[in-house]
Amino acid sequence: MFKAFLIKYAEIGVKGKNRYLFEDALVHQIRSALKKCEGSFEIRKTQGRIYVEAQGEFDYDETVEHLGHVFGISGICPMVYVEDEGFEKLCDTVVRYVADIYPDRSMTFKVNARRARKNYPKSSMEINADLGEALLNAYPEMHVDVHRPDAVINVEIREKIYIYSVEIPGPGGMPVGTGGKAMLLLSGGIDSPVAGYMIAKRGVKIDAVYFHAPPYTSERAKQKVVDLARIVSKYTGPIYLHVINFTDIQLYIHERCPHEELTIIMRRYMMRIAEHIGKETGCLGLITGESIGQVASQTMNSLIATNEVCSLPVYRPLIGFDKKEIVEMSDRIGTYETSIQPYEDCCTIFVAKHPVTKPNLKVIRRHEQNLDGKIDELVRTALETDELIIVE
Ligand code: ATP
Ligand code: MG
Repeated sequence: MFKAFLIKYAEIGVKGKNRYLFEDALVHQIRSALKKCEGSFEIRKTQGRIYVEAQGEFDYDETVEHLGHVFGISGICPMVYVEDEGFEKLCDTVVRYVADIYPDRSMTFKVNARRARKNYPKSSMEINADLGEALLNAYPEMHVDVHRPDAVINVEIREKIYIYSVEIPGPGGMPVGTGGKAMLLLSGGIDSPVAGYMIAKRGVKIDAVYFHAPPYTSERAKQKVVDLARIVSKYTGPIYLHVINFTDIQLYIHERCPHEELTIIMRRYMMRIAEHIGKETGCLGLITGESIGQVASQTMNSLIATNEVCSLPVYRPLIGFDKKEIVEMSDRIGTYETSIQPYEDCCTIFVAKHPVTKPNLKVIRRHEQNLDGKIDELVRTALETDELIIVE
């Protein structure tokens, strides 16, 4: 029955020139999302609205699902459209539409007509009144309520006539690409995929880096990260995933530094390397899945230590969330089941029994000096052997 969609987006904050950038980016993202669907679609932008029209056969559920992944969309309204073949024909169509959509019609409604084409023989007010009457005649159980109706039957008069009354919520946010690019430190855990999702939702394109430590971390652990990137990419578009071999760096830190400081020092090297790749690839920030107090390396004191090695801003969108809330989000976006697969990431391999929770910066810096001599070369090698996987 539905052959088209009206795409609604929040316009707050996107005025003037920015509005065009926003709309063009949204159209671009919708087009990419629909490429993955069966059927072909025409996407049109007119008078501050975006329409998606199926050209022939298409899969409704699949289309709605993919549109539901596009940031910037606040609502998806499935539409029926007909050629303009006179008002009586329109009445019939609307009456049939209501029967199809609302099996139980003991409800209130109002008709909301809009004329984009001013040569239509009736005014909007007349259309509202006359279609309302046709519906009341057809369904005596329905009642008009112009203030708080259960259903608003929208009728848009354009070249064709469009009818819609249902709005499926979209993800909101801003279209990816309107907000620059950032480098996500993506592990195999629950948190970092959600963190990437949240920043991408604000319009930021995502690249990712994963620190792999074979043979301490398995191929399967790496595959899990690729799988997570693939799920996140449903929302963000293609993700350039850098896989960095971290084994030698990690072993060297293990050999030269106090074990209770291992996690912090290792984290500092991850941040340095992520920032290095990020700067070379045009990223404007780093993203991590950290949340205050979740583990020893995420106390405020520890965050000072990991933060000080970067000059790019580090975005930590989960900083104030409880684990339970993060789990709920990961479940909603579809990463949870993959995240809980039991393959260790490299952080969990070399953990000390009693890691410091209040690292002293001066002490950490001094112990890092134990690495002088060889660490620069190890970092260079790690960067040179960066394996780039394009995930989409
Ligand atoms: P996550 O659930 O995202 O793994 P976590 O609760 O396990 O997070 P940590 O292990 O302390 O927390 O890691 C904190 C953050 O550091 C992660 O959210 C991620 O952004 C980054 N990180 C940790 N390990 C790696 C890794 N092997 N590769 C890339 N980033 C990592
Ligand atoms: Mg982890």
